[in-house]
Amino acid sequence: MTKALRVAIIGAGPAGIYAGNILAGQYPEVEIDLFDMLPAPYGLIRYGVSPDHPRIKGIVNSLHEMLNSGKIRFFGNVNFGTDLHLADIRKHYHAVIFATGAIKDAQLNIPGIDLDGSYGAADFVSWFDGHPDVPRTWPLEAEQVAVLGNGNVALDAARMLAKHADDLLVTDIPDNVYQGFKASPVTDVHIFGRRGPASIKFTPIELRELGELNDVDIVLYDEDFPDGWFDEDAEGVTNQHKVMARVMESWREEELSGASRRLHLHFWHKPVAILGEDGKVAGMKFERTQDAGAGAISDTGVFVNYPLQAVYRAIGYFGSEIPGVPFDDKYGVIRNDGGRVVDEHGKRVEGLYATGWIKRGPVGLIGHTKSDALETIENLVADVADLVDPAEPSTDAVLATFAERGVEFTTWAGWLKLNEHEIALGAAFEGVERERVKVVDRQEQVSISNK
Ligand code: NAP
Repeated sequence: MTKALRVAIIGAGPAGIYAGNILAGQYPEVEIDLFDMLPAPYGLIRYGVSPDHPRIKGIVNSLHEMLNSGKIRFFGNVNFGTDLHLADIRKHYHAVIFATGAIKDAQLNIPGIDLDGSYGAADFVSWFDGHPDVPRTWPLEAEQVAVLGNGNVALDAARMLAKHADDLLVTDIPDNVYQGFKASPVTDVHIFGRRGPASIKFTPIELRELGELNDVDIVLYDEDFPDGWFDEDAEGVTNQHKVMARVMESWREEELSGASRRLHLHFWHKPVAILGEDGKVAGMKFERTQDAGAGAISDTGVFVNYPLQAVYRAIGYFGSEIPGVPFDDKYGVIRNDGGRVVDEHGKRVEGLYATGWIKRGPVGLIGHTKSDALETIENLVADVADLVDPAEPSTDAVLATFAERGVEFTTWAGWLKLNEHEIALGAAFEGVERERVKVVDRQEQVSISNK
């Protein structure tokens, strides 16, 4: 007879849901409880993907199916570390899988980083995605803005800054976000990469999309494209690089249309300092870099300054430490070997697993999370015989614990209500067809879910 398992998953984003679904498929004798600190499921998809990217949000449909199958119990508004502890998990479950992602901005240690007007892109994304735990207003007062980094998060931040608010009305943005963008006086958004245009970390669809923005011109600079800047035959060049090189070349040939907003792409710019006046961002200093071969760059000793009133750093995300779980401060991930949590000496910590960005770091598209979850689950299933039986493996134990602690949790049935409510808010909107309007406030989400 197979051993009946109880497994907890912390984090109801794509990583956690894929892991639960794969586990249910590979090991049917399992009860899975999925916990999230937010009242609604879907993590990064609800609070990390840009609202104007419904294609990615389409992944929600398959995640919905997985949670709707009844094989996974969802509990939202449960904070691991205060509402639920590792000791509770040990008492009621055989194993726990951490799928908490990476939601903080990586640090950039340059002078001026703490000036008023210097932001992390992750915080900005949280704001425009209506995350309940960030302030409702965002100071969009700058005419000239810098976005640092050449990854897709930089593109998301820059595109949202450059877009006209009315072009966002078809999305699910909350009203406070629409009003914020509507009042923005921005004219120029500058994206700065420290490497050359052949070393971008963008993806083709996302790059091409910049050229399709209404009333926004794309500006590139000849000095950033030295002769032979793109070598099709160089090692590591993919079809994606080739497509993006063609996209940039076509932009270089285009005449500017005289649009009211401009999106500038600068390369070979290493951030040196954010310049301030009266405690506020007033500009930014960069050192020009150059190709040092094999994808490396070197400094040139040439410095350039740009007048700017806001700087967004989009130089990567960083994971947060989880109480009681071995953490690697350097890479911002849970220490693990193929998803099995290990201590600082590499020794396995029985019953603890990790998947997604908190396992491998904040790189890769949402789809990559699936193969990652597969590895973690295969290892967990291989370990089943060694997993220690919990003292109280009861299905209801966690409900009793929450009742005792006064935890106001949400459920899958609650999400279905909130989902309906948001869709109805969208349908009620006059003049524009909207798929939904997000409810931002945490307590309001909980009340609607638990009605
Ligand atoms: P990323 O792709 O790793 O890009 C980070 C960028 O920051 C790189 O250009 C990197 O330059 C630069 N950077 C790092 N440290 C720097 C420093 N000290 N100074 C200047 N630049 C620095 O990370 P991301 O943009 O946060 O994206 C994370 C993952 O999510 C990626 O896999 C991304 O594709 C994915 N994502 C996808 C979408 C989408 O599909 N639409 C949207 C958002 C995110 P170097 O190359 O020189 O290190």
